[in-house]
Amino acid sequence: MTTTIRDISVFGDAMAYFNEAAALLNLEPGMRAILTHPSRQVIVSIPFQRDDGTLDVYTGYRVQYNFARGPAKGGIRDHPGVSLDEVTALAFWMTWKCAVVDLPFGGGKGGVTCDPTQLSAGELERITRRYAAELVEFVGPDKDVPAPDLGTTPQIMAWFMDTYSMHMRTNVPGVVTGKPVEIGGSRGRVEATGRGVSLLAFEELERLGIAADQARIVIQGFGNVGSVAAKMFAERGCRVIGISDVTGGYFNPAGIDVAGATAYAQEHHSLDGYRGGRRISNEALLELPCEVLVPAALEKQITAENAPRIDAKLIVEAANGPTTPEADHILQQKGTIVIPDIIANAGGVIVSYFEWVQDRQGFFWKEAEVNERLAEQLRTNFHIVRDVAHARGIPYRTATYMVAIDRVVRSLKIRGIYA
Ligand code: NAD
Repeated sequence: MTTTIRDISVFGDAMAYFNEAAALLNLEPGMRAILTHPSRQVIVSIPFQRDDGTLDVYTGYRVQYNFARGPAKGGIRDHPGVSLDEVTALAFWMTWKCAVVDLPFGGGKGGVTCDPTQLSAGELERITRRYAAELVEFVGPDKDVPAPDLGTTPQIMAWFMDTYSMHMRTNVPGVVTGKPVEIGGSRGRVEATGRGVSLLAFEELERLGIAADQARIVIQGFGNVGSVAAKMFAERGCRVIGISDVTGGYFNPAGIDVAGATAYAQEHHSLDGYRGGRRISNEALLELPCEVLVPAALEKQITAENAPRIDAKLIVEAANGPTTPEADHILQQKGTIVIPDIIANAGGVIVSYFEWVQDRQGFFWKEAEVNERLAEQLRTNFHIVRDVAHARGIPYRTATYMVAIDRVVRSLKIRGIYA
């Protein structure tokens, strides 16, 4: 029996946004039913040998939510909390993320219920290869193209690609994205999500008539996405007044030296002990008066409790699901503009698409070309969302889901239902 998206408790928020947009699109019940059922859910057992010689079995999943616009696309998560429900929910989310930035992909997601921090490199490789081997008939450049997610790395993608290629008896780099550049990865992939976040922030600041040097930026989370976004903001002349990571926040009204903070975080593996700003809590950081707030850490950071005290003109959701629906409502009432996650953090999946294109062409682009195409793809689609939002007087989030759902529905209708 397949799980319908309605059964999934962890995904109530996305479902609520989907329903709101579907109602505005007057989506008929049959179409809603199709879009709230995953096309395919695969569960595999992964037997493997530990380094001490004992045998164990893990469970892996791959959910291919929708194929109307192309092969499924989405990450593989290695985490103890991975379940079929979670993977299905994330695949549902990927469907809209790919559609809103107009990629020729459907949505997918996978995962292995394991704790990669407790596994040796050898154990992780054996688990990845067996997982890939179990999925051989389900994935492929024209079927489903995985990528890294929580707990997975370019190296894991390399093992996945190598295993698939061995089974196919030919080299197939386009079966996964997020690979190391040496074996068909794309230049610019690592920075793509942070780049996209800052790019959309600048689009909106421009519309609001706020010059870069007048914009105070606060960023929660200083990992891959947060630190790259901080760098891009600083490069354009913004004042990044607050940054934080799991160890706490740092506030400097004169502007943090982003390059210095990045070097510090790289050397010490966190910002702990960083002296370029006054120590504040992560809670206080979110409430700093600023033009742009970028939550780039975890989900559910802006809630009904702290939303009334958020003092930002614009929130760009780099993390997935950082704002609860209740908080979203409060922000709307206050007039805070929110660029929602599925478009704000789509830079990564856009460059994943470029990686797949380059792999299939066997022709690799310079980084400047990747960045230029990324900017064009993201801007064009953000403008479409913005026009819908302004024309209908609705928040960007609702408009984002409407544009995405409408594209999937059009593709489905043109293809027709095979029965
Ligand atoms: P990362 O692991 O590189 O960095 C996460 C950062 O958040 C770290 O600095 C960590 O210390 C910090 N953090 C953790 N708990 C925190 C807390 N309680 N308060 C403040 N900071 C905290 O992860 P990333 O790749 O930068 O991803 C960040 C977010 O963006 C995640 O929600 C991820 O799902 C989302 N995202 C990432 C990508 C991508 O391409 N990397 C794409 C789409 C969405």
